Amino acid sequence: MQLINFLTFKPLEAVRREMKAPLVKPIFIHKLKSRYYTNGQFLGEEELEIDSLDTLKIHLDGTLTYNDKRVLLYIVDLSDDPLPPVFHIGSCHLLQELNTRGKIFKYYITSKEDGLFFGEPLGVCKECLTFLNWSGYTQTNKRGQEKIAANFTSRSFFKNI
Ligand SMILES: [Zn+2]
Repeated sequence: MQLINFLTFKPLEAVRREMKAPLVKPIFIHKLKSRYYTNGQFLGEEELEIDSLDTLKIHLDGTLTYNDKRVLLYIVDLSDDPLPPVFHIGSCHLLQELNTRGKIFKYYITSKEDGLFFGEPLGVCKECLTFLNWSGYTQTNKRGQEKIAANFTSRSFFKNI
């Protein structure tokens, strides 16, 4: 049976345009490969989906850990009113106040240093920069904060914590 490609199916496309409904990017669910683990240990070389935030522990310094390894967290919000696509480096107030009502989230963690989630470069969560006071984030002005956020790299994060 041949499935219809709804992206090129004209009647549906016409309705979508009329509704002004945005085209949602396809979501790729990546299967885990065994190389992410050595003797059951998460190596963090790729993205790993976790069931909930309870899987993570908060380090004394406020960063997020999984199996005693620091991780970056990306929350994919599948609802109509999604959260901005950023990754979290700490237990910021957005995580603590995450409103799960009517929302469908997927949680991915990684310890990769390239800052990419599924090949996409994401920005760092500014609430996390505030929470961790990363590079003196809370003690500088708006311009300085923008600079710190723009210059943030996963590599420097893993190196400096
Ligand atoms: Zn955050």
